[in-house]
Amino acid sequence: MIKINENYLNLQQNYLFPTIAKKVREYKADNPSADIISLGIGDVTRALPRACVEALHKASEEMGCEKTFRGYGPEQGYSFLIDAIIENDYKAYGIDLQPEEVFVSDGAKCDVGNIQEVFSTEAAVAVADPVYPVYLDTNIMAGRSVKKLPCLAENGFAPKVPDFKADLIYLCSPNNPTGAVMTKAQLKEWVDYAKKNGSVIIFDSAYKEYIQEADLPRSIYEVEGAKEVAIEIRSFSKTAGFTGLRCAYMVVPLALKGRGADKEVRINDLWRRRHTTKFNGVPYIVQRAAEAVFSPEGKAEVKELIAYYMENARIIKEGLSAAGLKAYGGENAPYIWLKLPEGIKSFDFFDILLSRANVVGTPGSGFGDCGEGYFRLTSFGSRENTLKAVERIKKLKL
Ligand SMILES: *Cc1c(COP(=O)(O)O)cnc(C)c1O
Repeated sequence: MIKINENYLNLQQNYLFPTIAKKVREYKADNPSADIISLGIGDVTRALPRACVEALHKASEEMGCEKTFRGYGPEQGYSFLIDAIIENDYKAYGIDLQPEEVFVSDGAKCDVGNIQEVFSTEAAVAVADPVYPVYLDTNIMAGRSVKKLPCLAENGFAPKVPDFKADLIYLCSPNNPTGAVMTKAQLKEWVDYAKKNGSVIIFDSAYKEYIQEADLPRSIYEVEGAKEVAIEIRSFSKTAGFTGLRCAYMVVPLALKGRGADKEVRINDLWRRRHTTKFNGVPYIVQRAAEAVFSPEGKAEVKELIAYYMENARIIKEGLSAAGLKAYGGENAPYIWLKLPEGIKSFDFFDILLSRANVVGTPGSGFGDCGEGYFRLTSFGSRENTLKAVERIKKLKL
């Protein structure tokens, strides 16, 4: 028999979402008339912006005509999309990027998972706790040792620079699951740390569009010198409803270097080699849809989408507060991180909420040990369901 990659056996079984789904199924079977509302989903639910739908139609017609048909495109993305990204997502915020620093991909999850390949398996990794599980699991698969950076209420759920040396650091802001956003000063501490230690930061800002406060950083490159130490990952998924369509991008600055046995190497060159070897590009029609996100109509629709979810977040947070519960996040992120009353464990609260309010959420402990005693609620439901769920939680009298 073939020998396997033993590292896979070191992964924790992901009991979280299957366990939750099973509990909900069982509850439904026992209570067939229960009107169950989910505030647990980490997926957007509103329809794709019309500007994107129209771009898809138009591009599809082009594909159906020999003169305008397109086969393989550039692996790193069409320049019409790369230029639109640079213009709207960076230049508009005072950040200059070269086209060869942007790589269009089929998802931030894939980018987050794949980028570690260009670094040594000996690189020491640091991830936040609680955390988006992909950072941790992909490094375990590669056989790296991973240290946790506790994110607690005391530090506003922002990971603090550690007193040990980490080579590869994953930061997520706005954060899933805590909804916390790192300030520019906090990001600067990390950039300084990375410069001092020769580390690389992977900055996941998949939720940057949810930032409402003007002085909070959307990009790590707002910190001077960050291009020498950071890779940034963004996605159209949560921003413009592309979770099913698939389009994201990663910025690998030309200034970011790594060390080989006897020379310095640009990480950008390695990633380009990897990307062009293992990836064959995002569908043309999808890239046209992503381009449409930056059209005036697209921008207006995205604004409306985000406002809809953020109003849900406000309703949830206000409702929890009226119910005497402490909650974090929800102001610059679609996630609300509920602090459970003393003594209630995350999974016990899941059962209480399901059985007594018929509301589904996500136990904080599923995102890491530091998530114990917390519970994640999301603003991705419909307005009607969000209002209903909040009323039910208020009646719980915890
Ligand atoms: C949803 C999510 C992603 C995944 O985005 P895709 O582009 O849909 O793959 C990445 N990072 C975080 C933190 C997320 O919550």
